[in-house]
Amino acid sequence: MIQLAYLLAATQGRLQSPEKQTRFQGFSHDTRQILPGEMFVAVRGERGDGHDYLFDAIERGATGLLVETRHIESMPEAEQERLKQITTVMVEDTRQALRAYASEILQRWQPTIIAVAGGVGKTSMKEAIASVLSRNYATFRSWKNYNDLLGIPLSLGRLEPQHEYAVLELGCDHPGELHKLCQMVKPHIGILTNVAPVQLQYFGSLEHLAKELSELLYSLPPEGCFWLNDSDARLVEIVAHYQQQRGSAVPDIRPLGIREINETQIRVGWEGLSFTLEQEGEMGTLTLASRLLGRQHISTMLAAYRIGRACGMSAEEVSEALEQLGPIEGRLNPLPGVYESRLLDDTHNASPGSVLAGLQALDELTNEGGKRIAILGEMLNLGYYQDDWYEQIGEQAASKVDYLILRGERTALIAESARQAGLASEQIELVSTHEDAAQLARAYLEREGEAGRNVVLLKGSEATRMERVTEMLMAHPEEAQEKLVRQTPGWKQILVLQTERPTWVEIDLSAIGNNVRKIREIVGPGVQILISLKADAYGHGALKVARTVLHNGASMLGVATLSEAAALREAGIDAPILIFGYVPYWQMREAVRLDVTITLYSSESAQALARAAQALRQSVRVHIKVDTGMGRLGIRSEQAEEILALVREAGELEGLEVEGIYTHFASADADDKTYAHTQLARFQHILELLERAEICPPVVHAANSAATLSLPEAHFNMVRPGIAIYGLDPSEEVRVPDGFKAALSFKTQIAQVKMIPAGECISYGCTYVTERPTRIAVLPVGYADGFRRAPRNWESVLVHGQEAPLIGRICMDQCMIDVSAIPQVRMGDEVVLIGRQGKAELTAEEIARRLGTINYEVVAEILARVPRVN
Ligand SMILES: *Cc1c(COP(=O)(O)O)cnc(C)c1O
Repeated sequence: MIQLAYLLAATQGRLQSPEKQTRFQGFSHDTRQILPGEMFVAVRGERGDGHDYLFDAIERGATGLLVETRHIESMPEAEQERLKQITTVMVEDTRQALRAYASEILQRWQPTIIAVAGGVGKTSMKEAIASVLSRNYATFRSWKNYNDLLGIPLSLGRLEPQHEYAVLELGCDHPGELHKLCQMVKPHIGILTNVAPVQLQYFGSLEHLAKELSELLYSLPPEGCFWLNDSDARLVEIVAHYQQQRGSAVPDIRPLGIREINETQIRVGWEGLSFTLEQEGEMGTLTLASRLLGRQHISTMLAAYRIGRACGMSAEEVSEALEQLGPIEGRLNPLPGVYESRLLDDTHNASPGSVLAGLQALDELTNEGGKRIAILGEMLNLGYYQDDWYEQIGEQAASKVDYLILRGERTALIAESARQAGLASEQIELVSTHEDAAQLARAYLEREGEAGRNVVLLKGSEATRMERVTEMLMAHPEEAQEKLVRQTPGWKQILVLQTERPTWVEIDLSAIGNNVRKIREIVGPGVQILISLKADAYGHGALKVARTVLHNGASMLGVATLSEAAALREAGIDAPILIFGYVPYWQMREAVRLDVTITLYSSESAQALARAAQALRQSVRVHIKVDTGMGRLGIRSEQAEEILALVREAGELEGLEVEGIYTHFASADADDKTYAHTQLARFQHILELLERAEICPPVVHAANSAATLSLPEAHFNMVRPGIAIYGLDPSEEVRVPDGFKAALSFKTQIAQVKMIPAGECISYGCTYVTERPTRIAVLPVGYADGFRRAPRNWESVLVHGQEAPLIGRICMDQCMIDVSAIPQVRMGDEVVLIGRQGKAELTAEEIARRLGTINYEVVAEILARVPRVN
């Protein structure tokens, strides 16, 4: 509960008008989650400014506002008036004000403050301690992972004067953060869970992290108490160092006593965790049990036990409270899964220590006859030190997992080391989408192991959003909202968390998976699908697209050049890859070595390729190319004899395998199919001759996307779509049917907003001169990103769901738009160059029309310097 008088006193805030309310239920900084009676705090953040939502907050029942004075003063009179309907407190800086309030209220009400910090397992430990204490005492606990300088004060809005204890989880994501948090809350009792590698991108090394964590120890008063997890060597070191430095007048330091627990007395099962303490005072032995899963919770339970006892509870009281303790969402939380499996949902976050603990629990909890499946996403926030850890995890997985599904490029390192440690290739899958991970797990659960005994561990860093896979594997997905992490509206809206640059391309790989399945429906089961991945998958990122299409029904890939194929092979793609283009003699050995399929249209090339194959004692597959009227690569179809001769010759050459024959349409994307039919007839004539001679290669193909969609007689036994699987129309006349989804969005962020007086020049050459005072925004995107300058440019982009015109010339890395008509535009706002924003959309087709080209060129020309995220 927040009392207005204390808030004003602590923050030196001013009321905008006489107060209407003097008490508020709590603070909220997100209008999507605000409850009636709460005070809305307008916070400026990386993803927007809470001041934009003041009226939204009022509409949703907020009875108070905490806002920044400068913002209110810059509001139009009428809006300022409207704010007077509720209690509006104005301060200089809302974050600062929240912190001041937190310190004030803790000092005023004097609860005993127990601070939990450390590497992993903080939330579980905070919950355990608070649950035990609340059996006997009025106990406050900080909210679920609201553990930073903003989150702690926000949750303290619910502190009540009668609370005797406040158990607070203190985050440690950035250097200096823990120190500030301790200064703010002044803990009396402290505990560190462990020193595990987390957030190392900010700390650089475990040593620096350990140093940061020791801040908690240094912040305790002499009459305070620190509980030492004596099973963590680094923590023991920290404490020894501290004692040396401080000498006397140190807080009481007491070990949890984990090392004294006898290994044989530890039980890990689905019913929970139990262990026995040998000499518990006059009690003799004492067994503690909880419903927490996994042995890493020994320290969680012991911390709660020791602190409960130290706070005056009896052993019976504490153990009774511990028995009530169960897993929390996203932390080794058992859930019923599909095909009677059990899920271990550990998707809250991932660091090396917690992944290893998860694998350990997976292994220990799987009964005989059951299969152990681990679905792991990437571990982010590890800085430069990650490779070793990925490898360690691969090693562990080899002995603790029967089927390993990995999502994200870095997890290839896990795959590699798991393979080296003995896990078979069939037991490892690399995927790019959540759907594919879930689909593979389903198929495996359906066919393997014993129903009722299979266990699936799901894990990954926050940003990898692995809870989506859990949802797809839950026996009761309707319970996802309640049982999974990150189900709030705010989280659901966030698609991409981090990019390397404020200009990026977002690829919806699920859309690509969907589009390939649609192609499958169109061509039916008997036709193979080869996906065209040339030019980095039309700018979509060839590797991730390759993984996705192969999991969704494609069996072959097509690229333009050997180097494109090599990149896929290097990343571990072992599906057949056809090179559409010219492979010169000097690349043929490399082609054989990479086991790619070559397009053949001359006898000389056939011989050279055969020589390369023989030299390497390998064989190489070829597809013969017939030019039926495209006038591009291939033997002209009039020269039937030459085609037959090449098929014969290649078939006889040692080292060559003639697997296919194909042609390519020049205008299958037109409404008028006359010419396509002419080409088709020429191709069919050649096929007849080959059949008559009984030398027709087994794989026959002709159809690009347009023909796949609009010329079923050209499907033969393989199709070669490209553009359609990216969800784009082959042409204005042949469009993708309903149900196909565009996969690519191109976005940037506003770099600066400013007023330019009338008569001033914008950009190079002064080709644009403002006619009136103009509010412009600068965008960090230019022609060196593929954002074209001439002869025509994009014309406009989307900001706040509205079109804003480009003004002046496009520069190499920047450009300007006129936002006079969109007053709410601020630095940092998202700008859409291709894709949707609110109800507005700029399609690649529309941009192609403006540029005077085709959608293919628009997407393929977004240059490599623009990061692709998904
Ligand atoms: C690019 C290409 C395709 C795919 O064409 P779309 O129009 O993108 O479907 C198929 N075959 C060959 C030989 C190609 O070069």
